[in-house]
Amino acid sequence: MSDQLCPVNQAISGLREAIESGGLSNPRSRRIAEEILDLLTDVAWGRAGGDHLGAIASLADELSYDKASAGAIAAAKSLLDALGEHREVFQSHIDTHNCATGDCVRLVPAPCQMTCPAGIDIPTYVNLIGRGHDAEAIEVIRRDNPFPWVCGLVCTRPCELMCVRGRVDKPVSIKFLKAFAAERALSDRHYHNPAKEPEKGKRVAVIGAGPGGMTAAYYLALKGYGVTVFEALPVAGGMMMLGIPRYRLPREVIDREVAMLEDLGVEFRFNRRYGKDMTLDGLKAEGFDAVFLAIGAHQSFKLNIPGEADFPQVIESIDLLRRVALGDRRIPGKHAVIVGGGNVAIDAARTCLRLGSEEVTIAYRRTRAEMPADVEEVEQAEDEGIHMSFLTIPKGIVGKNGRLTGIECIRAKLIKKDDSERLFPVPMEGSEFVIEADAVISAIGQRIDLECLSDLKGLKWTRRQTIQASTVSMETSIPGVFAGGDAVTGPATVVEAIGAGKRAAEAIDRYLSGIPQPKMPPVPVRRRRVEWMDVPASTKMTLRRPEMPLLNLERRRTTFQQVELGYTENVVREEARRCLRCDICLRCGKCVEVCRDMMGINALEFGFLNFDHPQPTDFRVTAERCILCGACAANCPNHAIRIIDRGDERILSYCGTILNRQKLEHCIECGAVLGPQRYLDFLQKRTQDVSPVVADRRLCHACARRHTARVHTENHPA
Ligand SMILES: Cc1cc2nc3c(=O)[nH]c(=O)nc-3n(C[C@H](O)[C@H](O)[C@H](O)COP(=O)(O)OP(=O)(O)OC[C@H]3O[C@@H](n4cnc5c(N)ncnc54)[C@H](O)[C@@H]3O)c2cc1C
Repeated sequence: MSDQLCPVNQAISGLREAIESGGLSNPRSRRIAEEILDLLTDVAWGRAGGDHLGAIASLADELSYDKASAGAIAAAKSLLDALGEHREVFQSHIDTHNCATGDCVRLVPAPCQMTCPAGIDIPTYVNLIGRGHDAEAIEVIRRDNPFPWVCGLVCTRPCELMCVRGRVDKPVSIKFLKAFAAERALSDRHYHNPAKEPEKGKRVAVIGAGPGGMTAAYYLALKGYGVTVFEALPVAGGMMMLGIPRYRLPREVIDREVAMLEDLGVEFRFNRRYGKDMTLDGLKAEGFDAVFLAIGAHQSFKLNIPGEADFPQVIESIDLLRRVALGDRRIPGKHAVIVGGGNVAIDAARTCLRLGSEEVTIAYRRTRAEMPADVEEVEQAEDEGIHMSFLTIPKGIVGKNGRLTGIECIRAKLIKKDDSERLFPVPMEGSEFVIEADAVISAIGQRIDLECLSDLKGLKWTRRQTIQASTVSMETSIPGVFAGGDAVTGPATVVEAIGAGKRAAEAIDRYLSGIPQPKMPPVPVRRRRVEWMDVPASTKMTLRRPEMPLLNLERRRTTFQQVELGYTENVVREEARRCLRCDICLRCGKCVEVCRDMMGINALEFGFLNFDHPQPTDFRVTAERCILCGACAANCPNHAIRIIDRGDERILSYCGTILNRQKLEHCIECGAVLGPQRYLDFLQKRTQDVSPVVADRRLCHACARRHTARVHTENHPA
């Protein structure tokens, strides 16, 4: 959450203080101020519409004319100043239904949504999937990410890292739910593009058909721009198509989602390389009004060891993966050594195995704990028979008669350097050894191709040799030229490139419409408000994150068939029910405090509310201890806890998790609801000194009063 203060929240506090302090002496001013306060509260609670800001401004104007009251003038001025200075933030509350600072408590985004680089409304779509509304879930996802199926298979899922359910047991399997819904919506033919806005008569050139470029193309096309994507290679997809191997991401998944862009009218021109086949001046002359550079980072770093340039069997992982993606199935060598410890190294190693290499070793200079690769990918690679050689630094390529025979390495030890969290590998003298190999594949990182952009003289670069662009608007140092994805961040992830593409589309639209760019990063948008699903506490606790079924090992070693086979429908619907709906519960802990400290009952064991130091959680204990007094619900700032009477029962639920349900007792005289037995026992215990008259009777207040009066008159006849 941001450490800035929310101007909407501040405006509310300021105005409330002015009203309560009696500073608005004139009754008319006071009434106007109260009206403004109502409108501001609408903004802070996500209930405001298009006219709210105009209405607030004109009421504040009216307030400022109250010359008799200095308080009114001061309140109006500070409000008008806030509106002028932070109009974007006020508007963003209305448009996104989220407040990035977390001050407007009803609009705090869930941690999963806040962490997603594309800002997808995760709680909403998980809930829709749980209800079986897959097409609606996909519609929600595609408001922020046009590639739900791709991301359902390969996203690095930062959302799951922040998932609060992970503090109870394991995070919700958000990624795989998305994949299921996308596949289902497509196969049911319910996967559609939204309607396009009318043509704007302006054209945008996108350079690079990776996820960054294509996302910008998608949202620009929806906004009514004519979009052409120029791609150096003969296929669309970028690293999704040319890097990520088919056993993780089948080609048809990419093709199906790219086809949705073509349906929108996005034009693709393949085999067209910027810097060779086109320049900025040429694009302008062709009638393009803005350019988005999304060329990725496709050049591998060299190993920089002796012998590297002398043997054609030393290859770069990116080249190998690209060749294979384009259909080449030649084996690089029987004994392949891959140098590196990231996902690219794992992909290259597993690809070699599938091409027929008999022995594949990954040489990494740190240990398993420091490997940047996804833990599950590493496990799958080891299961397939790939060897890991840790604390191994390559020293030179060994060969004989022009043929590579191995790679000389030296053992490393890890040391801590001042101020750095990371451990650094240093070679241990005299520990040299040779790993026999007939192919060495480097996978130690990529950088961007600077030369192809050499015509862009005013383009500024970062120290890391990536394009310098605003993180908010993706503007570069050249007006009308925007950039995003790996070309700006360096090698990153699909979902980060998608987030950048979406922001760029927004910024290009502003640029071409003459609207100033925003100053603050975008706030994720709450796309819908979906009611929670009722789940009994015992189900909520006992449901476990399902394992992903995998293709059998034999086929994994020899084919490029998809390894992760996907969840079944039942599993998906159940898994969605594990979501805690953190878009509703703010995890403020008031409920726990009230129940424990005020009521002395301690029936809420919500240890996950403490994000950094989670304690045990068990929703089931509430049923044993809770008296259904409703103090937690009454003190919950966001109605995450509800207490209702339904039929013959009183039910307490927390974001849909049914914590306690008890039979209701009724007044023995008039039949009015009294509450559950436990609650009555609690009350009786607390009031036994003051109401001995009705001590053992089940009476409502009115009947108790009548009863007491009767007893009195009988005892004291006139
Ligand atoms: C082997 C590998 C595995 C990966 N696995 C994952 C994963 O599992 N999950 C994940 O989230 N991310 C993964 N990534 C990273 C992810 O693929 C990238 O971060 C992402 O694709 C970047 O998107 P982009 O649009 O910025 O660039 P890219 O996807 O690289 O697309 C850039 C496009 O621009 C084209 N281009 C380049 N130069 C020019 C030019 N001069 N003119 C015209 N076109 C040009 C390229 O051909 C390419 O199509 C992986 C990357 C690799 C290499």
